[in-house]
Amino acid sequence: MRNKVIWMVRPWIEDFSAYDHFAQPLGFLVLYRILESLGYQVFYIDLLTEITSALRLRKNSDGRSEYSSKCIDKPTVFKNIPRYFKRYGIDEEVFSERVCAMTRPDTVLITTGMTYWYTGLKQTISCIKKMFPDVPVFLGGTYATLCPQHALALPDVNDVIQGNPQVKFFKMLASSTDDRTIVKNLHSHHLPPWQLLPQTTYAVITTRFGCSNHCRYCAVNKIHPDRESKPMEQIEQEIEHILTFQTIRNIALYDDDLGDDTHKHFSSFLKFLSQKDYPIKWHIPNALFAGAVTEDMAYRMKQTGFVQPRLSLNYIDKRMTPTGLDKQSMNLIEKASKKLYEAGYTEGQISAYLIAGLPDQTLTMLVNSGLQLIDIGVKPYISQFSPVPGTPLGDIRIRQLKETLLSDDLLLTNKILSVYCHPGWQPKELVDLMNYWRNQCHPKETCNYSDQN
Ligand code: SF4
Repeated sequence: MRNKVIWMVRPWIEDFSAYDHFAQPLGFLVLYRILESLGYQVFYIDLLTEITSALRLRKNSDGRSEYSSKCIDKPTVFKNIPRYFKRYGIDEEVFSERVCAMTRPDTVLITTGMTYWYTGLKQTISCIKKMFPDVPVFLGGTYATLCPQHALALPDVNDVIQGNPQVKFFKMLASSTDDRTIVKNLHSHHLPPWQLLPQTTYAVITTRFGCSNHCRYCAVNKIHPDRESKPMEQIEQEIEHILTFQTIRNIALYDDDLGDDTHKHFSSFLKFLSQKDYPIKWHIPNALFAGAVTEDMAYRMKQTGFVQPRLSLNYIDKRMTPTGLDKQSMNLIEKASKKLYEAGYTEGQISAYLIAGLPDQTLTMLVNSGLQLIDIGVKPYISQFSPVPGTPLGDIRIRQLKETLLSDDLLLTNKILSVYCHPGWQPKELVDLMNYWRNQCHPKETCNYSDQN
């Protein structure tokens, strides 16, 4: 009897913009390895980044890159946003050709991302179902965890796996089989299969899950309710596994509460790295909590290859005032940036996140906060707020959008829509501000809300 065949699919994204900013479904990749070790025949299909040689996309030296895309019809709720709406990823024909050569699946698992990407997911399911109408489809990942009822109501979805896909999926398997290796596997350590992504020049690592803070706009505690640090030997194994891939010398650290470590985890990690001489550039897309930066931490970050440190302020919604960031926040950022400069980072390398689009925010708050940062040599980096359902500030913002747009589509959680329809500014004002600051920080990244009439 042949082994069961599982297809693991990373779906298309439909949005106004999407960029591979060190974005990989790490838990999903680890799940691949676990299923493979259990004897399943597993196929990984990445609809976003599997590209044909005919495509030439802009790629940074650190591995971040564009996705290929094509314009598609805009959903009604976005009709007033003068911007192209696109499907990101490979063409449907390329997908169909590629899967023709693969063994028919017994089960399809699909990972999901942002809540407002569900239309790309729907399209992915529909394409798979056209080929295999009777194969069951299971969803996991962020959207499936945050909006399980919505996900279950999508056509042709058999079930939704909420939370940690490994634990939940194993429970599902364990309940339908007596195989004891399943339970054993759950507790053993599996290295992500980076060989599945031959074109990648970066990898990602999580050394600690969960966060001890409860910022009112953030859903991390719903996605990772347990806080857990990986043992250093396990982290070492992961890094050394990555280094066996000659093309990968950039690693993005996915930890959520980086630096905000009552458990001193990040400091221990840096001490561990200091004893090694890994040829790695480290990136911290989730930012580093400004209040946690010590002289030792700054020095070790510089010494071990952390590039362009970006600072964050937790609970920032309380900290932005009409005159800018409050005194305490500015103190934290000023002290952190001073230590980073003393450790050897130079002008232009240090930035700080400012979240734009929170309820009750105004343009003046953002402008003044940004100017304060520039004054102390820190680049402001605007992050557009996507209101996450089930978080206090997300729910407030979603209510405002429902009233304004007379819709209750989950697409209201789209960050471009949320920022475009914000009562605190005219869209063009915010775009001009973002572009002005982004061009200083990252000259190649521009924002445009008016590429379509
Ligand atoms: S510190 Fe970061 S990860 Fe933690 S709750 Fe706040 S925003 Fe979320």
